[in-house]
Amino acid sequence: MIEDPNCLFCKIAAGKIPSEKVYEDDEIYAFKDIHPAAPVHFLLIPKKHIPMLESADATDIPLLGRMMELAPRLANEQGCRLGKDGGFRVMVNNGADGGQEVYHLHMHVMGGSRPWKK
Ligand code: 5GP
Ligand code: ZN
Repeated sequence: MIEDPNCLFCKIAAGKIPSEKVYEDDEIYAFKDIHPAAPVHFLLIPKKHIPMLESADATDIPLLGRMMELAPRLANEQGCRLGKDGGFRVMVNNGADGGQEVYHLHMHVMGGSRPWKK
């Protein structure tokens, strides 16, 4: 089922548009960014169509928490080293001033050996 038929990331989460899957469960989908800005660069999204952070409500707190908790595990599986000497970047672009281009909430997870493009 597609949550919002006009949304690119809803179509990706539903498998209607191909992507390089990193992880999937009932509520969450993760896939590689098509234009990676770092050696590891994937996007973590809720399957639920939440356009922006301010679209989320209190019922979404467990879901958003799960996304945050998944980030290190998936980053590590994709090749990032955990711990203070390794690490990765988690980024949410929110709204036009935040640089958001796709209006389906997503967490960028970026890492790997430096230097990166950004
Ligand atoms: P935003 O600026 O909204 O935070 O970032 C959207 C991200 O989605 C960008 O980094 C862009 O490269 C990625 N992206 C846009 N369209 C597609 C697509 O069709 N497939 C994949 N895998 N990534 C996409
Ligand atoms: Zn969507």
